[in-house]
Amino acid sequence: MQHNKDGILAQNTRAQERKLRLRWLLGVTSIPLFGIVTAFGIAPQTSMQDVAISTVIEEIALPQVAANTPQTNTTEAFWQTDKVRKDDTLSSLLTRLNIRNDEAIEFLRHAPEASALASQLRPGRSIQAQTTENGELLALQYQTDLNSVLSIQRTASGYQAQDSQMAVEKRSMLKSATINSSLFAATDEANIPDSVAIQLADIFSSDIDFHMDLRKGDRFTVIYEASYNNGELVKTGQVQAAEFVNNGKTYRAVLFRDAAGNTSYYTPEGKSLHKSFLRSPLEFSRITSGFTLARFHPILQTWRAHKGVDYAAPTGTRIKATADGIVAFVGIGNGYGNVIMLEHQDGISTVYGHMSAFASGLRKGMKVTQGEVIGFVGMTGLATGPHLHYEVRVHGEYRDPVKVALPAALPIPAASRAEFDASSTALTAQLDLLRDSNLASLD
Ligand SMILES: [Zn+2]
Repeated sequence: MQHNKDGILAQNTRAQERKLRLRWLLGVTSIPLFGIVTAFGIAPQTSMQDVAISTVIEEIALPQVAANTPQTNTTEAFWQTDKVRKDDTLSSLLTRLNIRNDEAIEFLRHAPEASALASQLRPGRSIQAQTTENGELLALQYQTDLNSVLSIQRTASGYQAQDSQMAVEKRSMLKSATINSSLFAATDEANIPDSVAIQLADIFSSDIDFHMDLRKGDRFTVIYEASYNNGELVKTGQVQAAEFVNNGKTYRAVLFRDAAGNTSYYTPEGKSLHKSFLRSPLEFSRITSGFTLARFHPILQTWRAHKGVDYAAPTGTRIKATADGIVAFVGIGNGYGNVIMLEHQDGISTVYGHMSAFASGLRKGMKVTQGEVIGFVGMTGLATGPHLHYEVRVHGEYRDPVKVALPAALPIPAASRAEFDASSTALTAQLDLLRDSNLASLD
């Protein structure tokens, strides 16, 4: 397994080298479509002087600091940018930001107008503080939610706090990428947020097994919403439309919001993308996607005679019921270790083996719904490493999960047809534009 991980790392490094070139290409191809110039997030933040900028790995970013901060002439001022950590208290945060004067500490702890800081220490949120070299706080900014910022300033009459609204601009992002090693390597190259990669895997989860089916050369185009403030990405929203070309076959999805506000994905023709079986029982994540480039082969010949699909994944990875059903067996099975069998419609059953643990409370006879977590990856039974053994049976006979018929859910309702068609036509026209410009650039 170490072997394969190294291989993936090497591939990721090569992917990094292509990054700039690809971003440039995407930038050029996208501008005529949406007029997005700063949408690709590569502009360095240069607005703050003397800032010790820590590595920013998340998407929430504060607006640029206003330049009207009163400057003290006697000492030098430093801006420090940090993020709230999981186990932070107000004290630990203030210490890290080098805020040491009692007046500031007292104000941040007890002033009602500053209470949003102490009461909303959410891990991952950005905070910026300007202090003198002696640790006297001059100014502080904390993003309290998507739309507002708490700003604290030292004035001649003491500290003052105010809430200001951030101007959030929603943009429609259109991006495209080709898969060389993994989906996440491709989305990283194109500077597409992880949440969009996970949404893609979810949207196409009835048609594509993102752990097993991805091939080098697969490509996708995606339109998603993103919220920006002063050119900084503050939130990634829902995928509006996507095209995924897997192993030469093209799948397309468009989002439709019904009158009640519920959203679902359909093909551009209005067929539901939701099917009665998911293609993969494993939760898709950056971690599991890294494991799946190598197929897992059990070493025992007798066990190899079994029929099933093996998914290598870290111990503890969540396992989902691939369809609505009833728990027919939960316990220890010969060779399978901790195993669950679910019975579904039309005489179809599914088997999940080698689990480290079952979902708590799961019992024989219980109903489960598609996507519900039923257990966790492990290596119980005859297994040489952590993996999930997955089988699909029809009337007791093993079937290749890829070939089992997957009945579709309901298409777009007639009453919504006209509205859907208008929206679908507009979205697919955008997908076409980027696909065509990419194909042209390959020639
Ligand atoms: Zn197996």
